[in-house]
Amino acid sequence: MADPSPFPLPFVPHHKSPESPGENPVLFAFRGRELLVTSELALPSVTDIDAQGLEAVRTQYLGHLDGRHCYSAELPGDAATAEGFRFADLRTLFGSLDEMMHALAGRAVQIVEWDRTHQFCGVCAEPTELSETDRSRSCPKCKIPTYPRLAPAMIVAVEKDNQILLARSPHFPAGIMSVLAGFVEPGESAEEAVIREVHEETSIVVKDVEYFASQAWPFPNSLMLGFRATYDAGEIAIDGEEIVEAGWFAADAMPTAFPGNVSISQWLIRDFLTRNGQGE
Ligand SMILES: [Zn+2]
Repeated sequence: MADPSPFPLPFVPHHKSPESPGENPVLFAFRGRELLVTSELALPSVTDIDAQGLEAVRTQYLGHLDGRHCYSAELPGDAATAEGFRFADLRTLFGSLDEMMHALAGRAVQIVEWDRTHQFCGVCAEPTELSETDRSRSCPKCKIPTYPRLAPAMIVAVEKDNQILLARSPHFPAGIMSVLAGFVEPGESAEEAVIREVHEETSIVVKDVEYFASQAWPFPNSLMLGFRATYDAGEIAIDGEEIVEAGWFAADAMPTAFPGNVSISQWLIRDFLTRNGQGE
């Protein structure tokens, strides 16, 4: 039999820790949801962390990247850093931390958070046990496994006659507008969530919902499913709470959007601009 193909992605996830961390392991150490980084916004080495006397409450094995074993660690809530290091929210590290390391940090923080919040059974309060066979914790009495949680959400670029529907949430920084997004509810498909959310937020009816791309979004634990859709009927009407402003915009008359090109909302807007003669 031929050798199996090598794993087709650079990071190979695995739940079971190897006997030895090997050379130059990668460690994502968190205080709450903040990652320990150097003042140059790079990942500290294990030696750096040990030298600061930081002791993890719990650690988790994540898998390996280019032969380096990767771990996550939960530091105590009052952990303090030495000079030259700081704790940073992952949102502020887009573009400064290496892209692959940022993605792994997003994976790591969710596993740390899942492990921290699933130490006891939600039914009978018995301490849970880590599974040998997959990334889960189970109650020895109830046998109910719990896995890291993912919240699927949809995000959509709605288009009408070469215009895109953009809206402002009250949570956005002043002046910023973006495409519509919302969580998928139990029992609905992502396409149904698109149709429901667009209607709930703007009273617009859409058709031809078409998958675009997806992105892991660890704020706190979403998988963003991106779609394009076409206007079908209705006039924009907003509730003034979830959405405080909404409108149709042509590619040459766009409002202020989130700066950068790191999130799927920006990829959707860029795709619209490119197809309408305004992209590079
Ligand atoms: Zn139980």
